[in-house]
Amino acid sequence: MTQSTNLPTYQPALLAKLELATRWQRNRLLEPVKWLAYETGQTRFVPPPSRLYIESTNICNLSCIMCPTGRKEQVRKKGYMDFELFKIIVDQMAPWVQATTLHIWGEPLLHPRLFDMIAYCRQKGLHSEISTNATLLNEERARKILDSGLGAIYLCLDGMRPETYEQIRVNADYEKTNANIRRFVELKHAGGYSAPLVNLQIIEMEKTLGEVEEFVRAWRLPGVDRISVKPFDSWAGQVTDINALRPEDGQRPARRYPCPNLWYHTHVYWDGRIAMCDRDFNLLYDLGNVRSADGTVRVLENWNGPQMQELRRRHLANDLGSVSPCDSCTEWAWWKPTPFRSRGNYNAARLEGGESGSDHGDS
Ligand code: SF4
Repeated sequence: MTQSTNLPTYQPALLAKLELATRWQRNRLLEPVKWLAYETGQTRFVPPPSRLYIESTNICNLSCIMCPTGRKEQVRKKGYMDFELFKIIVDQMAPWVQATTLHIWGEPLLHPRLFDMIAYCRQKGLHSEISTNATLLNEERARKILDSGLGAIYLCLDGMRPETYEQIRVNADYEKTNANIRRFVELKHAGGYSAPLVNLQIIEMEKTLGEVEEFVRAWRLPGVDRISVKPFDSWAGQVTDINALRPEDGQRPARRYPCPNLWYHTHVYWDGRIAMCDRDFNLLYDLGNVRSADGTVRVLENWNGPQMQELRRRHLANDLGSVSPCDSCTEWAWWKPTPFRSRGNYNAARLEGGESGSDHGDS
């Protein structure tokens, strides 16, 4: 009697767990197939991407000097992703991708439904991440994030001194951001939360180089899971003033190979438009919209649609003369997939040399 009354609630939870485990196994087995598709130059029958990047908004509250959004170089229309569109994208992609970020350009904490987005990912068994400048991370939001089911958070604090930080993160207040982050990690530690994984991030640039070591030492605190020293991203070298901020490290990519992003990652901007990667911040290269003319949302069809096929073909032929911003990009060399590892948004050459890097933090 007791057993039969318990079954209706017990069964769905068990089935959901089984479904997640099966999904995880299948996606793991797909990794070598994906790698083969990449290595053999398959353009049309590429297995679904491993990672989904969703731009919750391209609006930001800061004017950071290394960021095309902050410098007003990103001139796309501003907006917030519609929650209904978001749900359809997640419905279609959650069975296939291992993780999604809820930011590309812009500050995700500005999205009025960010917590609903995180909850929806959790409900669909999809690991979600955000990268935030932490200026809006007050106590209320901190507690909500800790209870939300978010998988990972990147807290971006460039510098150990107010003058360094405030020169870089224009419109932000060092003491306030610092206090927000310290309170967040304290709450995480005190509450015994296992998630989200907390990444404290500093971007390697001319202005921060002298403070990186101190930063890494100072932020080894309970509640901080990882300290990421993110290599400088020139965003495909499109903005001269941003290029000038690059620290001189002597690292230049070797022989060009097709960009792995086109076989492994998909990026959807707030209005549904598809980007080759975040470096195409103004959508110079048209890859269409996940929403078709008849209103139907089709993320996977676009993944192997004619425009993606053509872009992959051009990369394979190294015919990038008219493909902006890939033609000026050096960040394609940040990673190369292997049969069993496709995560990556870091400078692989430097990691081989034993230096730290960041997998997915942007901002
Ligand atoms: S080559 Fe550069 S701009 Fe083009 S998809 Fe790869 S990382 Fe992005």
